[in-house]
Amino acid sequence: MIIVLLGPPGAGKGTQGERLAARLDVPKIATGDVLRAAVRDGTPLGLEAKAAMDRGDLVPDDVIMGIMKEALASPAAAKGAILDGVVRTTPQADGVAAMLSDIGRKVDAVLLFDIAEDELVRRLSGRTTCDNCQRPFFGREPGELCAVEGHVPTGTLVRRKDDEPDAVRKRLQVYRDQTSPVINWYEEHGPRVVRIDAIGSLEEVEARALQVLGY
Ligand SMILES: [Zn+2]
Repeated sequence: MIIVLLGPPGAGKGTQGERLAARLDVPKIATGDVLRAAVRDGTPLGLEAKAAMDRGDLVPDDVIMGIMKEALASPAAAKGAILDGVVRTTPQADGVAAMLSDIGRKVDAVLLFDIAEDELVRRLSGRTTCDNCQRPFFGREPGELCAVEGHVPTGTLVRRKDDEPDAVRKRLQVYRDQTSPVINWYEEHGPRVVRIDAIGSLEEVEARALQVLGY
């Protein structure tokens, strides 16, 4: 089952993605992660991506899609995958559909983690982020060590500039401008976008997502 996650920054999409991936025993595939892994492993596409980054350019979409395709065609993803932050624009929705069709697969579900803007501003303004693994934390102060159960702490928590309230509102505007067309794209091409109420405990939100997926 290939599941696309949509949702504004701060809705808990990344965290829920990890939980769903563990629960369904499939990998969570996030653009940044697979990109970093490809660069680290020095795959041909990874080297192309690195060359672009070294020039200070954005990594071209076709290179990113190629790296995604390799990740999705790998044995680890045989049962499915959770795509987190992979589809943010309609060209990406198109690209993912075409890439999956190349390997005889398709998007089976699209989950939209939905949350009111005021709540997001409140959440994000209280967020710190690990300067190494980029994991978000709530209720933890800048300067603390990133310590996740089962992981060796390798980074320090920082308050990102773009988590200030004004910056958050700007990011949400960008998100809305980009995502409305993506939702329309899926309404037209399928599968249907299912909204998940993202307010509640991690367990509550996860249970809603699992129910939608038929678990
Ligand atoms: Zn970390």
